[in-house]
Amino acid sequence: MSGTNPDLASLGILAQDPGYNATLAARIDDTDTLARVWIKPTGTPTPFEPGQYVTIGVKVGEKWMQRPYSIASSARDLTGGYELYLRLVRGGAFTPLAFALPVGHGLRVLAPKGKFTLQPDDDRIHLFISSGTGIAPFVSMARTLLADGRPRRAIYLNGVSYVSDIGYAELLNGWSASGEYPATYVPSISRPNDPANAGWTGRTGRVETIIQSALKDLGVSPAGAVAYLCGNPEMIVAAEQELRAYGLPEEAIHKELYWPAGKQPTGATGATGASEPTE
Ligand SMILES: Cc1cc2nc3c(=O)[nH]c(=O)nc-3n(C[C@H](O)[C@H](O)[C@H](O)COP(=O)(O)OP(=O)(O)OC[C@H]3O[C@@H](n4cnc5c(N)ncnc54)[C@H](O)[C@@H]3O)c2cc1C
Repeated sequence: MSGTNPDLASLGILAQDPGYNATLAARIDDTDTLARVWIKPTGTPTPFEPGQYVTIGVKVGEKWMQRPYSIASSARDLTGGYELYLRLVRGGAFTPLAFALPVGHGLRVLAPKGKFTLQPDDDRIHLFISSGTGIAPFVSMARTLLADGRPRRAIYLNGVSYVSDIGYAELLNGWSASGEYPATYVPSISRPNDPANAGWTGRTGRVETIIQSALKDLGVSPAGAVAYLCGNPEMIVAAEQELRAYGLPEEAIHKELYWPAGKQPTGATGATGASEPTE
């Protein structure tokens, strides 16, 4: 939100703190509420496995305000820092602070963690199913597999509200067009009747509602597929049911929930801790 950068002091964000061990090295605002950011540790970045997340935070008075974010960059290239894909949650406790930070501002980053990682030597078709920014770990996975010279066939199903929210389209469609990575990107728009989506001719509906038809159209055999689900918890519950109905066994479905089902934004005076993922 480069155009609406509020006064950091009015938000109580400390400009400096001994606990800051990283800087916001770069950011690209894709929309008013979606940004790609690069967090660069001041020391040597800790390596990670694709699918893992880092917790980033700023100091507000005496408190750390922090949240976990999946890493979107390749695990084989740490030079630019950790690339993250953030949605601004209005009324949220942390994201309004994160979106106020200018490039160069200090932060604290905790070492990468998480078990939402790829299975070794799995040559099944990878179904990467996400809502919104839940696509981030799947971008890291494919980038890393590509860097390793061992790409795995992937189908990305991503549900968003607006056409302008379709993340990483240039990268993923570019891979398909060039053949550099065997990926198929199938975004779906949940509000087709909104004037902002006028002219959209692709799939519509929440992502879980397109799973069975998309897999059928793409000729995916349940026995030859493994699914990774990431993002909104209600989407994950519904998507898992659709995948089971399509014939995928439980062992072939992996999940990363971005927040506990039923939780609402905690507000600017809310919790300081990072919600732990449910895996
Ligand atoms: C392992 C893990 C990885 C994550 N990776 C990402 C990521 O790559 N990108 C990302 O944008 N977020 C990610 N999240 C969510 C992130 O940690 C925060 O929960 C989110 O940024 C909201 O923080 P907040 O303090 O502003 O909102 P809070 O005050 O904590 O309120 C959160 C509430 O806002 C609502 N909400 C609406 N949209 C979202 C959304 N996109 N994410 C979370 N809550 C939402 C939900 O009701 C949720 O309960 C991840 C969460 C986990 C557990």
